[in-house]
Amino acid sequence: MISPGSSIGVLGGGQLGRMLAQAATRMGYRMHVYEPQENCPAGEVATREFNFDYREVERLKEFARGCAAVTYEFENVPVKPLWEIESVVPLRPHWEVLETCQNRAREKNWLKRKGLPVVPFAEVEAGGDLAKAVREVGMPCVVKTADFGYDGKGQLKVRSKADVVAAVEAYTGQRAVVEKFIDFKCELSVIVARNPAGEVRTFPVAENIHTNHILDFSIVPARVPQSVQRDAEELARRIADAFDLVGLLAVELFLDSDGNLAVNEMAPRTHNSGHWSLDGCVTSQFEQQVRAITGMPLGDTAMTVPATVMVNILGDA
Ligand code: AMP
Repeated sequence: MISPGSSIGVLGGGQLGRMLAQAATRMGYRMHVYEPQENCPAGEVATREFNFDYREVERLKEFARGCAAVTYEFENVPVKPLWEIESVVPLRPHWEVLETCQNRAREKNWLKRKGLPVVPFAEVEAGGDLAKAVREVGMPCVVKTADFGYDGKGQLKVRSKADVVAAVEAYTGQRAVVEKFIDFKCELSVIVARNPAGEVRTFPVAENIHTNHILDFSIVPARVPQSVQRDAEELARRIADAFDLVGLLAVELFLDSDGNLAVNEMAPRTHNSGHWSLDGCVTSQFEQQVRAITGMPLGDTAMTVPATVMVNILGDA
């Protein structure tokens, strides 16, 4: 176990890193932040802030040497420099989890290999035949960039031949995935934590309402039958075990009108849909992340209120 008094490192210095630093500090840890942009939100509440590019390997190693473990708060960190961190201290979750989750094609193939339910899809290599992938999946479908996509960025819905032509042009030279369009009943997410001893805990299932592809609000517990909640939590546990996860991971799911669950995407970190846990749960997702990466027993994820709604207010609202 990594004891309080030790330093924990986080790659990325946004709001999730800031809330992680606040939880870690309250628990007696010191937080070191590595973030290319100066004066980042997490840096303000951390002991040390490193402002260098993620490819500056020597700086990353120096950062890692000051920490007992390193984690991350967003997934678009280049993977190769992370091997250098792992040569110095444990990176939690390990780099293969990050590499899998940061590319939609890799993520979906991993889920399929593990026998986990995933939205039907076809992969398109850079310069590949997108129209063929659309024929394979069938219309309506959604084309997404394989790399660096989030909140609906780099996505196009394809319903007609004209849309196919537009998509072929828009995705020229890019790796993409073509997904079946799911006429879902609702979108759900489950946050799961696993510590080095293999203890696993899930947070209650959130029901997520998106507006313009961006999370608008979350209702917890999700307004779905208890059997669906149990299935969603079980699915998240299976994912955590299959990854040999040490840390926290969010699983976003579609529930279709037949009651079937399919994974949309995964993020190996805390999640917007888990912010309710700061006020409505015995243990917040940030405290749980600290517990998981330091090897403490995981905290109780029972709700302290009968139900909660989290509203996602963006800066310009
Ligand atoms: P993503 O960036 O993949 O999380 O997509 C953002 C949002 O777009 C999702 O939360 C859904 O509301 C919608 N979406 C993405 N993929 C699909 C799909 N295959 N079928 C229906 N809606 C989708």
